Amino acid sequence: MSFIQHRTLSRRAFCLCCVAATGCTATGGWLSPSQAYAKARNTVDLIRDDAAKAPIQVHKLRRDVSVLEGSGGNIAVLTGADGKVFIDAGITVSRPRILEAANSLSPDPIRHLINTHWHFDHADGNTWLNAEGAVIIAHENTPKHLLVARRVEDWDYTFPSSPLAAVPTEVFSLDMTVDVNRSKLALKYYGPAHTDCDISITFPEADILHCGDTYWNGIYPFIDYSTGGNIDGMIKAAEANVATVTDKTVVIPGHGQPVSNKAELTEYRDMLVAIRANVAKLKQQGRPLEDTIAAKPTATFDAKWGQFVITPDFFTRLVYHGV
Ligand SMILES: [Zn+2]
Repeated sequence: MSFIQHRTLSRRAFCLCCVAATGCTATGGWLSPSQAYAKARNTVDLIRDDAAKAPIQVHKLRRDVSVLEGSGGNIAVLTGADGKVFIDAGITVSRPRILEAANSLSPDPIRHLINTHWHFDHADGNTWLNAEGAVIIAHENTPKHLLVARRVEDWDYTFPSSPLAAVPTEVFSLDMTVDVNRSKLALKYYGPAHTDCDISITFPEADILHCGDTYWNGIYPFIDYSTGGNIDGMIKAAEANVATVTDKTVVIPGHGQPVSNKAELTEYRDMLVAIRANVAKLKQQGRPLEDTIAAKPTATFDAKWGQFVITPDFFTRLVYHGV
């Protein structure tokens, strides 16, 4: 069951977040930078190990659109005579199980891959999907991050540069339409939000919106300040997502339960706004980070939202950084 595996991952990753947030070991001793690096590195490897074992769950949505869950971010698949379109590529170790799941939907070859942003849990599989025949489409900032070694400070991890085959060859700055399988996919740049290269993908005929990592369903989100993300951009993106959907729209989050809706999306937006206000108030009072974390500005939300990779303390730190 992927639920159990997610819980396992959540417990392991909890340790990473503590390490990343405080530089402190479980027993209270401080880690040297190289120890912290080794720990974080191990956990990125653990995410890969987890994906290597996780089954891929298929959720059929509407028309020819499905979601594959279990390899990094949620992967949407559009099937049809022009070949499959993947939204995000998951983690490479899942390749055989992703292929099996995709083949269970239809025999169409994979012809397009759209990256919601550059992060490895969404783009690690780019190389093999390109080898399958997929043209890779993304925001123009995505190749910039993939072409060089990129350090994500909050994960204390430097991702190596990607092979050329993994780098998107069709890019855009504001929006783009992909006309495929009798569907006009609408790709739209959010502006800086979770990173500086987040895009949404709308399937207008099926009334489905894939939000990438601007939306984490029922869990605190990560915000990658190292590559241009910030809390105010996350809120702006959440506002844009709420404004663009109706009560009938199927909303796909980057992480969390993959079939969501306007009500859950709105609750997520409200959570971001409330915590940002709480943290900003404390910071404006001159409270340093550690005091702000100790004041527990996320407390009323923690039981629901604090149960996954991004812990309440870590999320407080991410918000504090941007207000
Ligand atoms: Zn991400």
